[in-house]
Amino acid sequence: MPAIVNFFHVGRTATICTCLVFLLGRSDAAADPGPSFYVDPKDTAEWRLLRDSIRQKKEGLEQELRERWNSPSIEQIPEYNELQQRITRLNAVLKNLENLKKSKQHYVLKNLEGEPGQVSEGGTVYSVVDNVPTIEFRIGRMNVGSFIHETTHGGQFEKKELVFDKTNGIAIGDDLDDEIEAYKAEYAYNTAELDPLISVSVPRCFDDITASWILGLQTKKGEYLFSLTKEDTAGTKIGLLPVNLNIDLKKLRRAFPCCDVGNSDRPLKNAEAYYYKQ
Ligand SMILES: [Zn+2]
Repeated sequence: MPAIVNFFHVGRTATICTCLVFLLGRSDAAADPGPSFYVDPKDTAEWRLLRDSIRQKKEGLEQELRERWNSPSIEQIPEYNELQQRITRLNAVLKNLENLKKSKQHYVLKNLEGEPGQVSEGGTVYSVVDNVPTIEFRIGRMNVGSFIHETTHGGQFEKKELVFDKTNGIAIGDDLDDEIEAYKAEYAYNTAELDPLISVSVPRCFDDITASWILGLQTKKGEYLFSLTKEDTAGTKIGLLPVNLNIDLKKLRRAFPCCDVGNSDRPLKNAEAYYYKQ
């Protein structure tokens, strides 16, 4: 059994992820997933459409940069820099999608119920499909923001910044930096909307997406998404410091002062309990 339980899930709402735990069931097979990229065949077209939306957005912003900002004045520089940052981040999103495609890890896109573009809750979870270890991006149909957010977590798995609990599919080791990266990537696509979440403030620029903004995120029901202390029962625990596969016990305890993180030297590098990038 894993030494670390109920640490964290990667996603937007605890409600969604709680449901997923029941859906996923146990996973104990570890077949070689092979070299090909797997998307649920029903959703292959959707993956392409989502990627193309991101590409089009990026090209539109590049055009804007060329046409509107030939020689920005000093006052215009902050706005110009924001636009440039959006392009840079969307390029990184597209590069990440390519990397996920090239990876031998199987990724699938799974849709949550709801009208296209309307359901924004999401999650990134591990499951075993036909004996193949699989990482699922659970998003609302054609929700580009969620797609960007969850696939950013996929990239974090590739970089060994997240692992998954084999018993329930939940991601372990998510930290503030991981969430800031995912929300900034999403914001680069759409600066007007990061719904269905509410927080202490509405971000008006990239620098507004901070650790305290992340910790202030609530669902529409007013429940906090993340919590820091043992006493907080709502929300899921998030690492205060950067966490990765090779983290040692001392650092992991500092990152999660709220949780029992076991006592092994490399607590996350436990192939029996966790699924991680080899
Ligand atoms: Zn996230």
